[in-house]
Amino acid sequence: MEEKVAEPAGIPILRVSSGNIRNDALNPDHRFASTPLHILNKDGRPGMNRRQCTGEYKIKPIKQKVRELLGYPYPARIPKGVFVEQRVGISTDEFHRAKDADVKYMRNRHPLLDMSWSRTECVRYLTSLGLADTPKSSCLGCPFHGNAQWRHIRDASPSEWADVVEFDAAIRQGNARANASGNRLLGEAFLHRSRVPLSQAPIDHVTAAERAALHIGADEADVLENGVEDGCSPWACRGDADALMRDDFGLAT
Ligand code: SF4
Repeated sequence: MEEKVAEPAGIPILRVSSGNIRNDALNPDHRFASTPLHILNKDGRPGMNRRQCTGEYKIKPIKQKVRELLGYPYPARIPKGVFVEQRVGISTDEFHRAKDADVKYMRNRHPLLDMSWSRTECVRYLTSLGLADTPKSSCLGCPFHGNAQWRHIRDASPSEWADVVEFDAAIRQGNARANASGNRLLGEAFLHRSRVPLSQAPIDHVTAAERAALHIGADEADVLENGVEDGCSPWACRGDADALMRDDFGLAT
């Protein structure tokens, strides 16, 4: 992005951060925003953790930076009519993800929708720039990964694979802060949706015959292979982030 797109166009890239989600999950002294871990309850029922990480680790630092750029760092009141425009890359096959920002000082624009570009057009364009292998952006150990993403980590980067396998084992009883404060998870937590340790999880491609044997429908098979469609993009899937953000960066501020 920096070399091929931003630099030639004279667009500065600003990096923001709220810390390291992996370290925070394992640090009993750190406040932790929960990730959408797959839970196996004691009675065997499957569940899922709340997802607060998108708000904490993506939306919050972006808002902080935007306020700074506007000249109104939190908690300064931003005058009416002062706002930034954000371009959010939502393609036509996922138009349901296009949402307004939840604060008046940010206005979302969706250029891919304006150009009527689907995922196919995006891939074609990236390919023309020599960027055909552009991956989905997400945290390394995101529980929303599909098997294709897990395989890619395993096959392309053994050290990262070892890291996520270790992390998966480390969060089996939930995050460290919750355990330290007596809020132990009443089941077990996993990164892979099969709810077995990542090192043993069935991440290889599921064939049509296996799918039929497992009674898995086409939609479920697609999520299994490609991950959760909405993935993790700020302002494309706010979910629990809304509630988290109201405290610090809500509409009133
Ligand atoms: S990529 Fe996954 S783990 Fe990371 S912030 Fe998004 S939902 Fe959370």
